[in-house]
Amino acid sequence: MSINQSRRRFLVLAATGTAGMVLCTGAGAAADLPHLSPDDPTAKALGYVEDAAKINPAAEATFKKGSACASCALYQADKAKGGYGPCGAFAGKAVNAKGWCRAYSAKA
Ligand code: SF4
Repeated sequence: MSINQSRRRFLVLAATGTAGMVLCTGAGAAADLPHLSPDDPTAKALGYVEDAAKINPAAEATFKKGSACASCALYQADKAKGGYGPCGAFAGKAVNAKGWCRAYSAKA
């Protein structure tokens, strides 16, 4: 993970107030978690979408084609179910494996 990715991850965790929760909890199985709504205020702030394939790269400067939650370091694939899994940026919610947000950090 590059310094830039680490910095972005830290800033996102700090901004969402979940840093402590990420460090001290094991998120439950995704089946137990409600799906994150793109209308959630934090989701909106981070530009979360359910389908990264629908992002216009020209309109979303930080988006790199091919990136999605499934390949993000914050996505907990081992706890995913039905295409949704816990995400370190959105404690208590499950995000779509095909989704994306500006906190995206490629897995090392
Ligand atoms: Fe979470 Fe990463 Fe998906 Fe953003 S891109 S919602 S940080 S898994």
